[in-house]
Amino acid sequence: MFQNIMSQQPYEPEFQQAFNELVSTLKDSTLFEKHPEYKKVISVVSVPERIVQFRVTWEDDKGEMQINHGYRVQFNSALGPYKGGLRLHPTVNLSILKFLGFEQTFKNALTGLPMGGGKGGSDFNPKGKSDSEIRRFCVAFMKQLARYIGQFTDVPAGDIGTGGREIGFMFGAYKQIKNQWEGVLTGKGLTWGGSLIRPEATGYGLDYYVEKMIEKATGGKESFKGKRVAISGAGNVAQYAALKAIELGATVVSLSDSKGAIICQKGVTPQQVLDIQAAKLHFKSLQEIVVATDSFKGHKIQYLPGARPWIHVGAVDIALPCATQNEVSGEEAKALVAAGCKFIAEGSNMGCTKEAIDVFEAERVNTTTTGGSIWYAPGKAANCGGVAVSGLEMAQNSQRVQWTTKEVDDKLKDIMVNCFANCYETSSTYTAEGNKSALPSLVMGANIAGFVKVADA
Ligand code: GLU
Repeated sequence: MFQNIMSQQPYEPEFQQAFNELVSTLKDSTLFEKHPEYKKVISVVSVPERIVQFRVTWEDDKGEMQINHGYRVQFNSALGPYKGGLRLHPTVNLSILKFLGFEQTFKNALTGLPMGGGKGGSDFNPKGKSDSEIRRFCVAFMKQLARYIGQFTDVPAGDIGTGGREIGFMFGAYKQIKNQWEGVLTGKGLTWGGSLIRPEATGYGLDYYVEKMIEKATGGKESFKGKRVAISGAGNVAQYAALKAIELGATVVSLSDSKGAIICQKGVTPQQVLDIQAAKLHFKSLQEIVVATDSFKGHKIQYLPGARPWIHVGAVDIALPCATQNEVSGEEAKALVAAGCKFIAEGSNMGCTKEAIDVFEAERVNTTTTGGSIWYAPGKAANCGGVAVSGLEMAQNSQRVQWTTKEVDDKLKDIMVNCFANCYETSSTYTAEGNKSALPSLVMGANIAGFVKVADA
């Protein structure tokens, strides 16, 4: 029924997957029964309002000309200016950016802040490039992008491959091109318009969301304290999810990057995470970091080349995929369930494959095997803390003020608590009789709550 409206491209597997995931949960709920008028909105929200595609020409250190593809998908502005990150990674293509822009639209709605959804980026690979090459690329990229963005139009931010350094290069270029200061990018440095807690926000927010899941599922009896947590990824989201989980009393038993995974049954230390953070700025691999860094000396660390952590971590209570899309397969999901994992929440966007979500959702309602105690939260809800603090950065820029760490962190917590409550209550309201369980589906709740907000607007 909704097959052909979402795309005119011949092959967009990631976007198709994100679209199917949203629509199938809406169809499984009682939403269309109760409100048939929402059906026609699917075709409206599934087509981006505008896609900009451009050539980025830049000069490498040898003086040779390099060409990359640049994109900005301005997906939906019903709730505010387009808002979403810029991904710099060799795999970037329109299917991936459309899926990310689509997800971002509903994620941003779940923050409760006035932001539309967008995503952009380039197939430029920052790995192995010098600082000057990255700067020249970022300036050339912004030369093209500047004409399509603005504080009231479209406000990009970081994503995979785009951190504070890259945002700095792009922001400087924008200011020169436009001859005006505006909060046109978020994730800026603290001394030039950035917000406190923005770097931490996605990882911290993820843990705040999971705290509410644990509290609700255990009637307030349990928390992160004493829990074993498997995390994938070693970038910004994974780093701060790990640091906050450790601060809350958990043991973080894994991290990973594109080359392999580290498993540490006794738990990684905050110093080790900080050392990974510093080394990752220079694109060092986990393998190199573990061998060369003092804080890892004398610690029992297993390095698994080419592996993701899920089937290797052993007994865990919580799994937080924080690397990239489709990083948990159906088999890995089964292994996590068998290892006693109860809570799965995505720090990455669409971290779980459809097969993995099916495993978790089936166990959520299956009272005979796992007692119906498996609870999965999708990225559009669980990782909305990053873009939420981007929204707070925009608010601070507009007022020309800077809030304190506590002010921003408290606001972030409130947003995550409200997001969880919204997903929980919306799911309880729209779950069909046969699908009921003590733990309402957070996928369904997130999808319906985000969709209804955008559809109403
Ligand atoms: N890239 C992040 C996300 O996927 C943050 C976007 C933003 O701050 O605009 O939500």
